[in-house]
Amino acid sequence: MALAHNLGFPRIGRDRELKKALEAHWQGELDEAGLRAVGRQLRAAHWQLQKDAGIELLPVGDFAWYDQVLSHSLAFGVIPARFRPHGGKPTLDTLFAMARGASANPRSPNACCGGAHAQPASAQELTKWFDTNYHYLVPEFSADQQFELSWEQLFEEVEEGKALGHNLKPVLIGPLTYLWLGKAKGSEFNKLDLLERLLPVYGEILQRLAAQGVEWVQIDEPILALDLPQDWKNAFERAYNILQREPGKKLIATYFAGLEDNLGLAAGLPVDGLHIDLVRAPEQFPAILDRLPAYKVLSLGVVNGRNVWRTDLQQALEVLQQAHERLGSRLWLAPSCSLLHSPVDLGREDQLDAELKSWLAFAVQKCAEVALLAAALNDPQDARVQTALAQSRAVQASRAQSPRIHKPAVQARLAAITPADSQRRSPFAVRIEQQRARLQLPAFPTTTIGSFPQTSAIRLARQAFKAGKLSAVEYTEAMHSEIRHAVTVQEQLGLDVLVHGEAERNDMVEYFAEQLDGYAFTRFGWVQSYGSRCVKPAIIYGDLSRPQPMTVAWSSYAQSLTDKVMKGMLTGPVTMLMWSFPRDDISREQQARQLALAIRDEVVDLEAAEIKVIQIDEAAFREGLPLRQAQWQGYLNWATESFRLCASGVRDETQIHTHMCYSEFNDVIESIAAMDADVITIETSRSDMELLQAFEVFAYPNEIGPGVYDIHSPRVPDSAEMLRLLRKAAQRVPVERLWVNPDCGLKTRAWPETEAALVNMVAAARQLRAEL
Ligand code: GLN
Ligand code: ZN
Repeated sequence: MALAHNLGFPRIGRDRELKKALEAHWQGELDEAGLRAVGRQLRAAHWQLQKDAGIELLPVGDFAWYDQVLSHSLAFGVIPARFRPHGGKPTLDTLFAMARGASANPRSPNACCGGAHAQPASAQELTKWFDTNYHYLVPEFSADQQFELSWEQLFEEVEEGKALGHNLKPVLIGPLTYLWLGKAKGSEFNKLDLLERLLPVYGEILQRLAAQGVEWVQIDEPILALDLPQDWKNAFERAYNILQREPGKKLIATYFAGLEDNLGLAAGLPVDGLHIDLVRAPEQFPAILDRLPAYKVLSLGVVNGRNVWRTDLQQALEVLQQAHERLGSRLWLAPSCSLLHSPVDLGREDQLDAELKSWLAFAVQKCAEVALLAAALNDPQDARVQTALAQSRAVQASRAQSPRIHKPAVQARLAAITPADSQRRSPFAVRIEQQRARLQLPAFPTTTIGSFPQTSAIRLARQAFKAGKLSAVEYTEAMHSEIRHAVTVQEQLGLDVLVHGEAERNDMVEYFAEQLDGYAFTRFGWVQSYGSRCVKPAIIYGDLSRPQPMTVAWSSYAQSLTDKVMKGMLTGPVTMLMWSFPRDDISREQQARQLALAIRDEVVDLEAAEIKVIQIDEAAFREGLPLRQAQWQGYLNWATESFRLCASGVRDETQIHTHMCYSEFNDVIESIAAMDADVITIETSRSDMELLQAFEVFAYPNEIGPGVYDIHSPRVPDSAEMLRLLRKAAQRVPVERLWVNPDCGLKTRAWPETEAALVNMVAAARQLRAEL
């Protein structure tokens, strides 16, 4: 009998109950007991949902108050000194202080030890969890790091689930993945040196769980799907040889990519089971069957935990039947990875049309798919199984043929693309001369990245418009008034290239997705990004096109108000793709190309409307990089090509900008150059301009605007500070190619600090000009 299990369930709640409770708690409106009650209710509800869907072995430990990596740091006592409680065990307040920082204010709800912090303690660093949009809190290790079991939450949850009569499988992040994800602080040392000290805590946890009657423990080691240095590979064998002496059966879970060169290593570890991701890496099957020792359980992830589409059950069964014949009850079935990365319940969607809805599956539905596949193996003649398979076939057939998805016009356009379409007419050296002659900008031209403060007045106007309480005319006038304000302020500040401020945009992806054909939106399709923050990605369901201009009216209006150059503002194809749920029936590359053509139409229309500078944001460019280096070049080729495709429809004298935040450039600089934007603005202030080194070493040929101040905090840096950064930049980039701008858009800032910072920025640029 094949067994249906789950690697993890979204913790945020169908109605984002956890988000709401957390925020109420942080506001001081919900006490700790109230918050804990919400957590308990959510865990109980989620177990029940999974069980009702047919999952036989339920995850426990997938719940976290903020982040699962942070929960492990607490459990292991990896609590940096600035947060350490004065005696005793860490508390929920310690956890939130590590996540959000603790102010020096004794009345702050974040104060982690119930008393004052003499110094404010800055939060731990957040970073992306592998190639997902989930962010975890980076553990901080010191060379003399000690580990000590310090947090009882997991054991309490096991008791809680047992009391509810559930068959539970605790989920732990494995010791090597945990160490890999952390950061060595203070003196340089090899994190692997900490392994021997860390393992006893795992031993203790496994013993405690066994004493609670737990049979199986899932140990997530997703780094087995990465390119691992040899010492890390060796450490796997060492670690699990030690852990094998501890009680309980262990299932090692891998996901997000194939095991490749680590396949033999993973299969051979002295544990009782292995989970692999067959959605991301179907080629691992059947190779894994030959490498797996005869005693081991093999868990196959055949239902996509990263996307929203219903599984092609028939296709999945073909693989599974083969595995079932070989493995019998040693075959387990699961989603490809934890369902943390998928929205909670499709049943909640009351406004999606029936056809589209029939194509989708969220976490609850994915659990049912896993269970159904197990049932299909165990009892193929079962009537319920037969019905479900027939339904699945019907869904696949409808998607394969639907005229809502397949648009001959889009496909014909794609087929007609020639290499010339992805090439500006002349090389940069020629273009820039024409642009300079036309734009007449001073040296060190100043600009901003696009958005100005999204005030509550703006948000209220948008909500009123969406709710039908504000007419289109009234809404347009409200936005025009914001644009007038932004233009006036920029003229007074003396900025050189102005922006309209993006007041009309809720979000840089959603704004465009709403205007493209081929995108759908959910009402409740939230996915946790970090802590209480959730995102609701749009869904690409069909061939993409742009029925009509999306930004031209706003940009033209803004340009009509000023004699200065007004920059048009778009989101690029790669970012549109990365921050959406993509289709699974055509490649990411093809979707990026369709997006590129749609945005290209907008670029061309902006040019026709006399917009002389057009910025195409590619904030997520680096996020698309595959986990394995060997696959990087393939991605970079199509990512840069789609950027060029969207940017190359214009004349030489039209200046194309791009913008990228939170990026490292060293290993992708060649591709950044291949994008061939006339100007790139990047986030550099927090790196003290170090990020420019890549551009210097590569002799990056086009113009660059390195951010001279951090927009993430309200702090207003003075002019001298920005001047210092600019001088550093000028050592790395020829001065005639330097722009002056903030790190990123200013939408999260308020006006007073924005104006104050920009006054100083313009002063810094003027000072440099005077020195030329
Ligand atoms: N143009 C966008 C803005 O200014 C860019 C945002 C981003 O790169 N994340 O808000
Ligand atoms: Zn940015």
